[in-house]
Amino acid sequence: MQKFDVVVIGGGPGGYVAAIRCAQLGLSTACVDERLDKGGKPVLGGTCLNVGCIPSKALLDSTSLYQSLANVKDHGIEVGELRLDLGAMIARKDRVVQTLTAGVAGLLRKHKVSWLKGHGRLAGQMRVEIVPSESEGTAGTVEADHIIIATGSEPAPLDVAPVDGERIIDSTGALDLTEVPGRLGVIGAGVIGLELGSVWRRLGAEVVVLEALDSLLPAVDTDLGREAARQFRRQGVDIRLGARVTAVEHEREALRVAYEDAAGAQALEVDRLIVAVGRHPHTVDLGAEAAGLSVDERGFIDVDERCRTALPRVYAIGDVVRGPMLAHKASEEAIMVAECIAGQHGEVNYGAVPWVIYTAPEIAWVGETEQAARARGAKVRSGRFPLTASGRARAMGETAGLVKVVADADTDRVLGVHLLGPHVSELLGEAVLALEFAASSEDIARTIHAHPTLSEALHEAALAVDGRPIHI
Ligand code: FAD
Ligand code: NAD
Repeated sequence: MQKFDVVVIGGGPGGYVAAIRCAQLGLSTACVDERLDKGGKPVLGGTCLNVGCIPSKALLDSTSLYQSLANVKDHGIEVGELRLDLGAMIARKDRVVQTLTAGVAGLLRKHKVSWLKGHGRLAGQMRVEIVPSESEGTAGTVEADHIIIATGSEPAPLDVAPVDGERIIDSTGALDLTEVPGRLGVIGAGVIGLELGSVWRRLGAEVVVLEALDSLLPAVDTDLGREAARQFRRQGVDIRLGARVTAVEHEREALRVAYEDAAGAQALEVDRLIVAVGRHPHTVDLGAEAAGLSVDERGFIDVDERCRTALPRVYAIGDVVRGPMLAHKASEEAIMVAECIAGQHGEVNYGAVPWVIYTAPEIAWVGETEQAARARGAKVRSGRFPLTASGRARAMGETAGLVKVVADADTDRVLGVHLLGPHVSELLGEAVLALEFAASSEDIARTIHAHPTLSEALHEAALAVDGRPIHI
C-alpha cells in the first residue's frame, strides 16, 4: 500500500494549497479530488476555480465592460451599435477557468504532489480509500501519517424551489445560461444573489431578488449597506426584503413564485429562478462520522483554532469547517495546517479575514463594523470620506461610494475598514495590513498616499477619524 506523509482530500483553494505547502516543507503528499470538468475530465481547483470565484468574476468583468461601453458617451467616446455575443462571453469565461485549473495541475506536478483522481473516503487507521470516477483514476487505498480534509461546500437546497438545472438553477447553472432571461428571479440577496443578479441585470434581464430577512447584507456596515442598496435599486435590481417564498409552480412559459411579505401573500412571474440561499459543508460519503470525527448539527466538521479535528493527525480546513466560506480563508488555513504538521508554528488571524462583494460598486471590508463594535460596548470613533470628493473617482466618472475607518476611541487602534466604490477590492489589502499590524488610524493618516488614487479616500477617512480631513 502506497504511503504518504500527508493525504489531502479535496483539490480546491484549501486542498491544493495545503498540498503545495506540505510539499514545499519536504513532506510526501497526495491530493485526492473527484471533480470532473464540463467535458468529464478530472480537474483541480475546486468550487472556487471551476464554478465559484473565478467564473463569476470573469462574467462580472465581461458584463461590467459591456455596461461601460454602453455608457462612455460622457467620456467623449462614441461607439457603434453594441451587440452581445453571449456564447463568446461564456466561452471566454470557460477559457479563463481552463487556464487556471491547468495551472494548478502544473503546480502540483512541479511540487511532486501525487494527484489521485477519484472520491476519497476515510477508511480507518489513517487510510484513505480512492473510488475512481468512470472516466479516469485508479481504485485503491493509501496510507497517511496525516490527513487534511478540504472537501468544501455545495449549494444549500430550498424545498419549495428544487433545482432542475433548466428553469430553476443554482449558482453553477447561473454561470452557464445560454440566453439572457427576460425576467430573472433570485431567491436570497446574499453574496451570490447580488453578484450573479448583477451579471444578468447588466445584460438586460429584469431582476427581482427575494430576501427572507428584513435587512439587506446585515454583515455590512449600515452606512455602506444603505448606499449599496440605493445603487442596486438605481441599476434596476428590484430587491424585496422580508419575502418568504412559499411555492414555485411551473407554468407553460414561466415560473410562478408565490411568497409572503409584510403586506401579505404576493406572486411573481419569472422565466428563470436562481436559488442562492447559502451553502452547506460537503461531507457526502466521506466516512467522517464512522471514522470518529465530530460533525456539528449543520454538518461542519468540528475543529479547534488550528483546524485539528477530534482525531489525532487529522485536520479539516476551508468551507467544510466553521468560519466564512471564502477561498482565501481556506488557503490560509491550508498553510497553517501544513506548517503545524511540519513542526512549525502556523496561525490564522481570524479577526482580519477580508470580504469583498464584487457588485458595482464593490463592497469590501475587514474587521468590525461600527455597529458591531458599539454592540459589544467598545468606545468608537469613525471617519468617513465620500467618493464624490475624490479627484480620481471624479476622473473615472464613478463617484458612488464611500470609505469608512472605525477606530477604538481610547487607543485609536483600527477596528475595521469599510469600502464601497469602484475597484475597492484592490484597496482592501492596505486595510488588512493595517489590522494585521495593529495600526492606529493615525498611522494611516500619516502614510503618504499617491495622488490621484482612490487610496486617498482611505487616507482622508483616517484623517476624518480625528476630525481633520482635507478635502471635505
Ligand atoms: P472547494 O473549493 O469546494 O473544493 C473542494 C473540492 O473537494 C471540490 O473540488 C470537490 O469536488 C472535492 N471533494 C469533495 N469531497 C470529496 C471527496 N470525498 N473526495 C474527493 N474530492 C472531494 N470565495 C471568495 O473568497 N471570493 C469569491 O469571489 C468567491 N466567489 C464565489 C462565487 C460563487 C458562485 C461560489 C459558489 C463561491 C464563491 N466563493 C468565493 C467561495 C469559494 O468558492 C469557497 O469558499 C472555496 O472554494 C472553498 O474552498 P475549499 O477548498 O474549502 O472547497
Ligand atoms: P449567503 O449566506 O451570502 O446569502 C444567502 C441569503 O439568502 C441570505 O441573505 C439569507 O437570508 C437568504 N435566504 C436564506 N433562505 C432564504 C429563503 N428561503 N428565502 C429568501 N432568502 C433566503 O449565501 P450565498 O449567497 O448562497 O453564498 C454562499 C457563500 O459563498 C457566501 O456566504 C460566501 O461565503 C461565498 N461566496 C463568496 C463570494 C465572495 O467572496 N465575493 C461570492 C459568492 C459566494
